[in-house]
Amino acid sequence: MMSVTKPQPPGLVAASELFQLLRDGAPRTRAELAAITGMARSTIGLRLDTLLELDLISPIGDAASSGGRPPSQFALNPSARVVIGADFGATHATLAVTDLAGTGLLSRRAPVRIADGPETVLAWFVDAARTLLADVGRTQSDLLAVGLGLPGPVEHDTGRPVTPPIMPGWDGFDVPGRIRDELGVVALVDNDVNIMAIGERTRIYPGVRDVMFVKVATGIGSGIISGGLLQRGAQGSAGDIGHVRIERGTGVACHCGNFGCLEAMASGPAIVRQLRREGVDVADTDGLVELVRRNDIAAIRAVRQAGRDIGEVLTVCVSMVNPSVIVLGGRVSGAGEHLLAGVREVVYQRSTPLATQHLSIVQTREAENAAVIGASVIALQYALSPEGIGAMSTAR
Ligand SMILES: [Zn+2]
Repeated sequence: MMSVTKPQPPGLVAASELFQLLRDGAPRTRAELAAITGMARSTIGLRLDTLLELDLISPIGDAASSGGRPPSQFALNPSARVVIGADFGATHATLAVTDLAGTGLLSRRAPVRIADGPETVLAWFVDAARTLLADVGRTQSDLLAVGLGLPGPVEHDTGRPVTPPIMPGWDGFDVPGRIRDELGVVALVDNDVNIMAIGERTRIYPGVRDVMFVKVATGIGSGIISGGLLQRGAQGSAGDIGHVRIERGTGVACHCGNFGCLEAMASGPAIVRQLRREGVDVADTDGLVELVRRNDIAAIRAVRQAGRDIGEVLTVCVSMVNPSVIVLGGRVSGAGEHLLAGVREVVYQRSTPLATQHLSIVQTREAENAAVIGASVIALQYALSPEGIGAMSTAR
């Protein structure tokens, strides 16, 4: 998906490598760049010229006041180009256009049914993306890449969904191919919980290398960032904890065909079903969260038990990947402290003291924005990589 078939000029490859130093936005002088890279000042000058031509960096400082001398410092030019991030849920999508420093310029949420299939949904997306670009005064030629989060499993290397349960018609669909045909850029596609993990970590825990994001909603899944890198596993299904069997689930059928899965006991619909069996009047997950907020004892008890069930599985995860932070997100996490309390109760009790000594288990702070931020981040990571810059200049 991400391979660029056109050969890249060697000067450009070298320039894009130098650019990796300037990506952080800090201004640097030619002398500093030469010292860091060990390259000759003349070489640095040539590569800076290439990056200036692409408009990716700008001169900073006192060029005008110092009598026509070359500018002394250079830094990333955040407004040179833009990326679009998009998060698709079952019934809504959020799109955001972001500059090269990751600053959001405009975002928009709209009702879209993912079950309408890829033709309809992606045609809508392409239209919405063009409108968003126009609304921030940009054109399609300013767009560098697109990041997309989908509510189902995605094969990472190809960006194709793999038998996604709530996405009829999407199995194996070439999502990046369609977006490239319409918008002319590379599209990075991932599942929604992976991009939530990336978004939450980028904004709230930028210095933390080991973060696990657990989404508790209609389904239950997690995104694992270990050693600073998102772990997708061999087929992209790493972190898929919803269908791990838990003690309390013995004999309970799950929609996946197995029995006793975490998702069959602790997801929003599962908690709602249990409460209705007890005679509680609750329609859906939003209703459940509302009951908890009104201090309904039965709802609180059910959510806390779901937290314990999730904690049972997370105890194993803590042993395997030793995160510093576990973030709980998704609609059920709107029930707040009660879900957290159940998770903490089990994880702290059953894990080794060394693994939990510095472990925080917290509620999401970015909430529904985490996913679209993460989608923008994966688009930016590609766009500003040597490969992304090579693709950009050959397209010009
Ligand atoms: Zn299952």
